[in-house]
Amino acid sequence: MKRRLWSFPGGVRLPGFKELSNREAIVPFPIPRFIVLPLAQHAGQPAEPLVAVGERVLCGQLIARPAALVSAPVHASTSGTVVAIEERPVAHRSGIPQRCIVIESDGLDEWLPPNADEQDPWRTPAKQLVERIRDAGIVGLGGAVFPSAVKLTPAKPVDTLIINGVECEPYITCDDLLMRSRPEAVLRGARLLLELTGARRCRVAVEDNKPEAAGALEQALAQVLRDDWAADMAVVQVPTRFPAGGEKQLIRVLTGREVPSGGLPFQVGVVCVNVGTVAAIHDALFEGRPLISRIVTVTGDGVAAPRNYEMRLGTPIREVLEQVLREDAQDMRVHIGGPMMGFALPDDRAPVAKGTNCLLVRAQPAETRPAEAMPCIRCGACVEVCPVRLMPQQLYWHARAGELDKAQKQHLFDCIECGCCAHVCPSRIPLVQYYQFAKHELREAQRRARKAELARTRNEQRQARLERQKAEKAAKRRSRGKPKRDEGAEAAEANGDEAAA
Ligand code: SF4
Ligand code: SF4
Repeated sequence: MKRRLWSFPGGVRLPGFKELSNREAIVPFPIPRFIVLPLAQHAGQPAEPLVAVGERVLCGQLIARPAALVSAPVHASTSGTVVAIEERPVAHRSGIPQRCIVIESDGLDEWLPPNADEQDPWRTPAKQLVERIRDAGIVGLGGAVFPSAVKLTPAKPVDTLIINGVECEPYITCDDLLMRSRPEAVLRGARLLLELTGARRCRVAVEDNKPEAAGALEQALAQVLRDDWAADMAVVQVPTRFPAGGEKQLIRVLTGREVPSGGLPFQVGVVCVNVGTVAAIHDALFEGRPLISRIVTVTGDGVAAPRNYEMRLGTPIREVLEQVLREDAQDMRVHIGGPMMGFALPDDRAPVAKGTNCLLVRAQPAETRPAEAMPCIRCGACVEVCPVRLMPQQLYWHARAGELDKAQKQHLFDCIECGCCAHVCPSRIPLVQYYQFAKHELREAQRRARKAELARTRNEQRQARLERQKAEKAAKRRSRGKPKRDEGAEAAEANGDEAAA
């Protein structure tokens, strides 16, 4: 059935380079000797370690628990011994080391025995399913790494569940290969999420440049629907245009609804989940397997045989590079993620984490334009391609001038950092870096303001408490002083009586 689709503003058409890595099946990457698991592989608070150095752990064992509502647990991704809990380089654009649990593998890959008490997911209440998703450490595997349990408990009812298989970044094919190889897992997971969220319909979105993935899903969907005719589920192919896989852009394309500025999808009745995340939820609920591995695309002209690997979380990227690089590769640049929204890897000792969807290794400069940024010529090209209808050049001027409040007023925080503006900018201005810097500064200022406000409130409360205590003491003194005078009077009277006698 032909479904109505809407369009989103801006966007760019990009060469895909998908054929480099989408021809070979997914294979497991060897488990390394040392596994390095960051405590902050997700959005929110870092997890808190539950193990000590010297302790033996089994694969799938909980080794760090969530420290807040927006946080996620960490599980051992193989069996072995904890040899360190310390700061290590991680795959983050800041390059700042983070606390990690380091496990020396014993080579046995011995799993924690399955929990026999876990109920059939189809008969489990939604609240318990969400808890199991949280306990399995599932976060958004499309790149946002937001804890899925939080996302799946929207503040108001939703009617539409979107499964996002629109992998629009060039080079990355991990979702494509997942949809081709495990369509049943994606759809069974999606069917369960329909129950869990209470949504009436589910749309599995795939870009129209992935016919094999769409075909595999269509075939598997026929089976799912044969088992359960009541569900309103469909696979929808959407036009290939970057960033069609952005959450707000995809919601617009499939439903015509606009998520408001600063808002979230549930506000327009939608929950949107990446296909890799749905498969991870399926594995957690139907197979009792926490998130200990993910599919990673290893590609680029610096790689001898680009393809997708199932990698254990914590695998050091240096070990991956040692095994995949072309022999003659020189002056490589390693990117985490795609060329548009990814970032240069600051240190190859960093491990593969929950958000690592792609290692892009390029041996030659892909760009031929001059590297130096030139002044803005006010051509307006950036405005035309912005999918959020922002004014990228004005955001840039404000960010550059340090006028952060003005940038914020121009909806800086609605910028999804897609990089379309920088991609078309003839002056080669690294626009997204300016926005990232401005957002960081604003968040820091907000954090400092919150801290100062908290300190002020605490000080006021302390002063109020001291005043209260002082008043209470004075009252006590007064009430103690009165009986003394009475006792004295009584004594005087008694003495007087005795003297009189
Ligand atoms: S990076 Fe931000 S400002 Fe630039 S096009 Fe994307 S959303 Fe618009
Ligand atoms: S595309 Fe570049 S040069 Fe043109 S207006 Fe935008 S920032 Fe300025």
